Amino acid sequence: MIPKYFIVAQKYRVVLFLSLCLILLAVSGLSFAETFKKNYPIKVGTTVGMVADIVRVVAGDKAEVKNIIGSGIDPHVYNPTRSDVAILLKSDIIFYSGLLLEGQMSDILVKVSRKRPVYAVTELLQKDYLLHDSETNHHDPHVWMDVQGWMKAVEVVKDAMVAFDPPNKEFYDKNAQQYLNKLKQLDNYARRAIGSIPQKQRILVTAHDAFNYMSRAYDIEVLGIQGISTESEAGIKDINRIVDLLVNRKIPAVFVETSVSDKNVKALIEGAASRGHQVRIGGELFSDAMGPSGTYEGTYIGMIDHNVTLIATALGGKVSQKGMQDKLTSPHN
Ligand SMILES: [Zn+2]
Repeated sequence: MIPKYFIVAQKYRVVLFLSLCLILLAVSGLSFAETFKKNYPIKVGTTVGMVADIVRVVAGDKAEVKNIIGSGIDPHVYNPTRSDVAILLKSDIIFYSGLLLEGQMSDILVKVSRKRPVYAVTELLQKDYLLHDSETNHHDPHVWMDVQGWMKAVEVVKDAMVAFDPPNKEFYDKNAQQYLNKLKQLDNYARRAIGSIPQKQRILVTAHDAFNYMSRAYDIEVLGIQGISTESEAGIKDINRIVDLLVNRKIPAVFVETSVSDKNVKALIEGAASRGHQVRIGGELFSDAMGPSGTYEGTYIGMIDHNVTLIATALGGKVSQKGMQDKLTSPHN
């Protein structure tokens, strides 16, 4: 039997260790804040557009945001170039999405984190929230597809900006709160729009498994034609299984994605046509990248509004084709 005092001693050791970690964290946070000599705008580096968008809203004119992976580019396989590395090295603070979304950038993110704060915006999400992908044996990184999940990312950015630049705490708090209110509206709209699709047709067939968080949050079945990462190829067997489903349930539309090749989707349409069922392409969804910068679809809210409105329209739901706030501009056929 293990003596009681030994267990207590062990407990103390753990507590001591944790306290030490916290002190170290606090000290390092302090030193990062101290090195920043209040030269506004603060230089912020980000990996993907959805993260850049949060920082632009929360930090406003206090920050200049440089984003690395642009519109229409697949972050799963993205290799940073020399100029990307230069952006990171010149940044005062860096935000990335995390959960291995930016798989090829892990090494450089670790390296640059020695001299400046680097945050994964998904770090507040608890294990029981995160979906697991058995194929890659990792967490599913596509958290932004559930607006409530992405609201946690706003909190990470806000807290990090406050820690880095404490005198502007009120400014960051206010911006974050206003943004969270808008995201709450977006979340409500998404639930209403997807909920208006007739139950039998409420199934989203698309190129890769980016929509599982959307599926859980808004109650729509999702089928991706290839594994969770676009690095794996879809099998003929999977294609045939999905063709069966399209034909049997008379699903009217499937979707393509801006950052993923659509050849598998076209194979589905041909497969269904050969069995006498017409399926059309419901339109292009934004999965891992937003629309062109400077457009409504080039913001996180516009991206989700576009996706949800397009899906609802193509599958027989009842929504305005111009979306939540009449701002959608891209074609909704
Ligand atoms: Zn993805």
